[in-house]
Amino acid sequence: MVGGSGRMGQALAENLNLIDGLVVSALVDVREPDHLFGATYASSLADVEPSQIDVVVDFSQPASVVASARWCAAHKIGLVIGTTGLTEEQRSDVEAAAASTGIIMAPNFSLGAILGERFAAMAAPYFERVEIIELHHDRKVDAPSGTSITAATRIRDVRAAAGRVTPDEPTQRFTLEGARGANAGDGVRIHSVRLPGLVAHQEILFGGPGEGLTIRHDSYDRRSFVQGVSIAVAHVSSTPGFTWGIDDFVA
Ligand code: NAD
Repeated sequence: MVGGSGRMGQALAENLNLIDGLVVSALVDVREPDHLFGATYASSLADVEPSQIDVVVDFSQPASVVASARWCAAHKIGLVIGTTGLTEEQRSDVEAAAASTGIIMAPNFSLGAILGERFAAMAAPYFERVEIIELHHDRKVDAPSGTSITAATRIRDVRAAAGRVTPDEPTQRFTLEGARGANAGDGVRIHSVRLPGLVAHQEILFGGPGEGLTIRHDSYDRRSFVQGVSIAVAHVSSTPGFTWGIDDFVA
């Protein structure tokens, strides 16, 4: 578990150990973890014996994801990445490493979020406009969330394929800059909220003549990501190359 001392690393180490057949054997982090949960601690993957592990899970920060991908490629070990906020260059370095080993990367491992996005894709062609509100804890460093960008991209692609074009935006005068959020393409707007007390939440709002549809998902605590990560761990060694998202593994 790379990033094993972080909020996600600690929650995953504790809860993945409860799943039959899974043992978190090493926590890798630049700082020592509060709890080991039966694992050993290493300050770098270079100090981990590759023959002792089957899969690496990375919930750290973008720069270390590339190092994890190269280490996994060199040792032909599957890699599951939850870290968000990678630059284009970091993302293509990760994809290049996937030529040598299976890598599954997902912006959101919670099953509710995955299903919410699927339902949104079903609704996307039928409504005039779509906006997304994503809400996270106030220590999140990137905005908008990777989850909201992925949802917006999928919604936009489904709408384009169905020939649905969002009408022009009538709002032209802005008393406060940014009031209409960020345009993720074809007028699909994303609004980011950051507040203490929140974990990870998202509302996808559809509007049409005389009706609206809201698809809302809430992660109340970090256990919401455990099942999805365990699904990715189960598939990564038998799935060569780079896979974006775990939608295909959730039948
Ligand atoms: P965090 O800051 O609590 O933890 C990150 C950890 O990474 C820290 O302990 C830090 O010391 C460690 N780290 C930094 N550099 C490192 C390096 N070079 N090698 C090893 N460890 C290093 O953050 P968090 O809330 O646990 O989130 C971690 C990442 O996971 C973020 O990118 C967040 O957006 C993402 N996340 C993804 C999902 C998902 O479902 N995909 C869910 C929640 C969070």
